[in-house]
Amino acid sequence: MGIKKEIEKRKTFAIISHPDAGKTTLTEKLLLYSGAIQIAGAVKSNKIKKTATSDFMEIERQRGISVSTSVLSFNYKGYIINLLDTPGHKDFAEDTYRTLTAVDSVILVIDSVKGVEEQTRKLMEVCRMRNYPVIVFINKLDREGKEPIELLDEIEKELNIKVRPLTWPVGMGSRFKGVYNIYKSTFNFFKSGKTVVEEEVTTFKDLSDPDIDKAIGHNEAVALRDDIELIDTIYENFKLESYLNGDIAPVFFGSAVNNFGVKELLDTFVEIAPCPGPREATCGLVEPSTEKFSGFVFKIHANIDPRHRDRIAFFRVCSGKFERNKFYHHVRLGRDIKFPNPANFMAQDKSIIEEAFPGDVIGLYDSGIFKIGDTLTEGEAFMYKGVPRFSPEHFCEVQNTDPFKSKQLEKGLMQLTDEGLAQLFLQNPGNRRILGVVGTLQFDVIKYRLLHEFGANCKFSPINGYKAVWVKFKNPKDIEDLTTYRYHSLFYDKNNNLVFIPESKFILQLAKEKNPQAEFLENMEHNDETLELEAS
Ligand code: GDP
Repeated sequence: MGIKKEIEKRKTFAIISHPDAGKTTLTEKLLLYSGAIQIAGAVKSNKIKKTATSDFMEIERQRGISVSTSVLSFNYKGYIINLLDTPGHKDFAEDTYRTLTAVDSVILVIDSVKGVEEQTRKLMEVCRMRNYPVIVFINKLDREGKEPIELLDEIEKELNIKVRPLTWPVGMGSRFKGVYNIYKSTFNFFKSGKTVVEEEVTTFKDLSDPDIDKAIGHNEAVALRDDIELIDTIYENFKLESYLNGDIAPVFFGSAVNNFGVKELLDTFVEIAPCPGPREATCGLVEPSTEKFSGFVFKIHANIDPRHRDRIAFFRVCSGKFERNKFYHHVRLGRDIKFPNPANFMAQDKSIIEEAFPGDVIGLYDSGIFKIGDTLTEGEAFMYKGVPRFSPEHFCEVQNTDPFKSKQLEKGLMQLTDEGLAQLFLQNPGNRRILGVVGTLQFDVIKYRLLHEFGANCKFSPINGYKAVWVKFKNPKDIEDLTTYRYHSLFYDKNNNLVFIPESKFILQLAKEKNPQAEFLENMEHNDETLELEAS
């Protein structure tokens, strides 16, 4: 099969939501419909992360939150669907943002009772920056929630995207009758606690069909007609192009835990969601159908099997065809490397693959050669852009408590920060080591892993820092004030970039005023330094 055909078969996406909106439940149901798992409830809500499917770390089991981001691949209607799971906990949001660099579209789950929540807003901001096509699934219609029209209004206002409902609910909570498909004139009848995957759908002539009154009750049918008339006047008709451009988000209503509305969502998803598209690199846009293979690492994960030390680099294939045991060019290291055991993530197992195509995510066993953002090519010297590195907001100084284990500590810190779990800042002179994270739970994970994987004991002492800000300058004179008065807050990151960690927003502001020639950057891309090397 030609590479174009392979690309057309693939859909790579992520489900995003505020914790508890129903992302895990929906994931389970999608697997159920695709046949990747057999029985509803076999994988309990929230427990899916606790099976071999996507649970890599012991700490995750202990904490009961999903620390890891994993990949689930399954087949549906001739498509190969790659679902990139994202951790729900806000302290691991950075991980989620990075995963979003590897998808082509997203499904956003909103809890009908709670509406738009904090994490929904943040995640959508990232999607809006990239103009990803978004499908919205409003979940938990079996509960008394907000009025549908109110929810749509909230989504438009708070998430800065236009919406277009494709289905419309009749009633909610105990009065929930089901959803009407506006474009197909079908009615999907709701039954609670359904464990079968078939949905009970009746097709009507159109909205005026009197059979609708018989099926759902006269009053409900009248209300439905009024609602849809209103919707048609408020919202633009659905246009595929507007969805693909990220301008309009089609909206579905359902109840994931009751298997309701999920099939409709999945069927529409495979029909309209984009196939792998071009990606931006330092050499310009790279088309997926380009013959030469290339792609990038968006996530590095610790040993899936605690008895082994290897890490797994999650690699998105962006162009061409990846082949097992073929030499590829590691652009940052300038070395050619081959991969004898590349893994894919079909259903619940990992298995070795022979080849992979654009849109696929493969797991490359990594003995420490990869960093987030690394690019592999067939020899070309370009890097993929856009894997963000966020400014940490919590800081701790690392102190070794076992002088005989300082090498282990060093190695552990290097590896864990390469994985993107935290950022490491060094002070010279002084040899102070500061770890910076976006959410404080990451400190616990790091401490646990330093001890269990590297045998390194250490103490973390919190230090007062507002943010880590990268400082760019042309001439040492540009930062004279900073180096004279703020030297105690100056550090270097692992790539030797100068980083300023001011105690407060006020001090940052002051530094900007006193060093007007310097640039203070709050977010960097993982490949920023490599990009600069290339330019110079
Ligand atoms: P996540 O944190 O977004 O992954 O959310 P989960 O899928 O773990 O769901 C959070 C809770 O909401 C669980 O107790 C689910 O059983 C429940 N839930 C999920 N979908 C529905 C639904 O359609 N209706 C109701 N009533 N509860 C649901």
